Parts: sequence; structure tokens; C-alpha cells
Amino acid sequence: MASRRALIAAALPALAGCAAPAIRASAAAPRDEDAARLARLVAAYPAHLRGMEGGELVWADGTRMPSGAGLPARPFEAMLRDATIADQLRQDYAPGPLRETPPPDHSPGRIRHASFFRKLYGDCRDPRTAPPLTRITWMPRTRPQAISVTTVNDVHLRLARVIEALEALPDAAKAFLVPSAGTFNCRDVADTGLPSMHASGAAIDIGTRGSDYWAWSRPRGAMAHRNRIPGEIVEAFEAERFIWGGKWWHYDTMHFEYRPELIG
Ligand SMILES: [Zn+2]
Repeated sequence: MASRRALIAAALPALAGCAAPAIRASAAAPRDEDAARLARLVAAYPAHLRGMEGGELVWADGTRMPSGAGLPARPFEAMLRDATIADQLRQDYAPGPLRETPPPDHSPGRIRHASFFRKLYGDCRDPRTAPPLTRITWMPRTRPQAISVTTVNDVHLRLARVIEALEALPDAAKAFLVPSAGTFNCRDVADTGLPSMHASGAAIDIGTRGSDYWAWSRPRGAMAHRNRIPGEIVEAFEAERFIWGGKWWHYDTMHFEYRPELIG
């Protein structure tokens, strides 16, 4: 008996030693879905991101950020306020015509990991790393307006190409575009307190007159999706990999932002 007990006692640490690394490995291993999405993220920002290593996102300058890959998805509100990098990729954005009302809480692109975008575009509250902005002209042949956008990721050049496509649309569509309600703005998103993509200079709001916004709905909480923006405007932006806030459950139909990891 004593010898059998001794044998079991001797075997236990070995068993524990075997089991522990296996559990750790499976917890740390990104799920295939996360891995594919993170690969798309790296491919979308080739000048900034080097790749993934051991569950961390590695930047071109060697900075490492935990990706959150392999962690279970959390409720939308939790991800909205405190997203991992993997969380911000979890909701799929469907380019093309808006075929149906987005299901509750489906707001692809609204979940953002703030440090990721601060590192990518700069921090507008820190003069040492403020976003590099340039001025371009919004709708120069319709109603010229100087707007400030970032030069990071050639957003200014991409938006200039969007503008060319928009200028070719019929006047009825162009009426939705002018004046722009804003581009760069060092502000937070009202309901999350986290930096807006406008603080990066990588977002634009078109005209407000034909736009709808969830927070304008009355009474609050009785929100029903609304949109009046013509599809050809959305197509012109999506061709340059800007996503549209009209495809969010929390609809913001004047809003477009450059998010190549979610589209294309
Ligand atoms: Zn906006």
C-alpha cells in the first residue's frame, strides 16, 4: 500500500506539470477566427504593423500590444468601453447596398481599442504626437470648403479620390454632402468617453440636413434605424475603404471613417 501511495504521490507533480502548460497553451492560442482577422489588420496597415507574435501585435518600430486574441467575446457595451484589439475586429462590415436594418448592437467599426488608434494616428491632446494634418477642399466644384484630414495612411489622398467620385454624382445626391459637418476634431465619442476617429483626422461627416443619428432619436431608447443617404455616396467612400456609420445599429448616417481592416 505504502509503495502504491508513494507511486501516486510521485506521479502527481508530473501529471500537474503536464496539464498546466497544455491549459496555458490553449488559453493563449488565438482562435482561428481572431487569427484571420488580425492577419487582415496587419495587411491593412503594412507601413505600421509587422505581424503577430505569441498573441501580441508587433508594430514596425518594435512596440508590442496584447491583441486579446482567443479571449471570449464580451457583451457589446463592455467591448465598446474597453475593447481589445481583437474585439474591434469581431463585427463584420458588409460593403455594398444597405439591404437590411443592422441587428441590435451590430455596429462594425464602433468598437475601437483607443491605444491602437492613438499609436497609428497620433494623440491630438499631446503636442509631441499630434496627428499630422493637411488641408484639402471638400466638393470644390459644388460648394468649396477647406477641411483638415490626416496624411497618415494617405487618408488625404484617398479622400481626394472620394471627392472626385462624389463630384460626378447628380445634384440631388450632392445636396446630401454639403456643407461637411466636420473632419478633424479633438473630441471624444459622447456615449463612450473614448477618442472619436475625428480626433485622428481619419473621419468625415457629410451634410447634416439629410442625415440621421441615433442620439437624435426621441424618445431615447425608442431608436429605430433611419437612413436617407443615397447608396452611390456610400459606394464612393467604400471604394476607398471608408466605412459608413449608416451600417451601425447606432446609426450615424453622416459619418465615414477610414477602416481598411474592415473593408476590402
Ligand atoms: Zn462623424
